[in-house]
Amino acid sequence: MSRPARQSKGGDASRASIENSLLAALPCKDYQRLLAGLEPVTLTFGEVLYESGEKIRHVYFPGNALVSLLTLADGHLALEVGLIGREGMVGIPLVLGDKVSTVRALVQGTGTAMRMDAAHFRKEFRLSLPLQRELYRYTHSLMSQVSQTAACNRFHVVEMRLARWLLMTHDRVKSDEFHMTHEFLGHMLGVRRVGVTKAAQALQKLKLISYSRGDITILDRAGLEAAACRCYAVVRNMHDGAQIAAEHAMRTMAAPAGA
Ligand SMILES: [Zn+2]
Repeated sequence: MSRPARQSKGGDASRASIENSLLAALPCKDYQRLLAGLEPVTLTFGEVLYESGEKIRHVYFPGNALVSLLTLADGHLALEVGLIGREGMVGIPLVLGDKVSTVRALVQGTGTAMRMDAAHFRKEFRLSLPLQRELYRYTHSLMSQVSQTAACNRFHVVEMRLARWLLMTHDRVKSDEFHMTHEFLGHMLGVRRVGVTKAAQALQKLKLISYSRGDITILDRAGLEAAACRCYAVVRNMHDGAQIAAEHAMRTMAAPAGA
């Protein structure tokens, strides 16, 4: 079940309640300085945070909100190439020195996030080495996700891709239930509604999920993992590996000399 939104204006007691794992991984001093420029917001299903070709005005650190990165073909056909939740940040072009996005950032799960003005973010990014390290690591992980998604969309059948997408969503929202329309799922998977219906029915028949009027419930997580293509595990393992390396680096830095 989804956890309630918890935001605090600071203090050590609030550290345990930081929903976004990039923010949670920062040393206290860096987090506190960043917090002064962060504003809690609610992101709403269907909201466009920025369009392809548009200047990025804010970065977002999702809590239980979910944001899709969509690439456009022929100006109107949208396909999901990346999914960002509590593990990441929306606005990665700013990390790489660009102010304009080449993809559309669309909210596909209503929820909490922390937002920061782009100019303020660039200043903080220059000042904080731990923030740079976290965001470079995350950028690499997002690039891996995007390239694996490209291969997945080309080579794997809709049913496996739907299972992968459900698992990725499940990991981020930390809830067994979420809402998603056929139309939206079609955009996520790059297929027509009828293709989504067939794939969802197949997973439902195997008792892995229940799906009614866009209300999805994960019934059998292990079964869903078995039904998904390998792409899910590939991206998750890359992410976990990077996470472990970052935590190790953080511990090494934090440990006093001779400890
Ligand atoms: Zn795949």
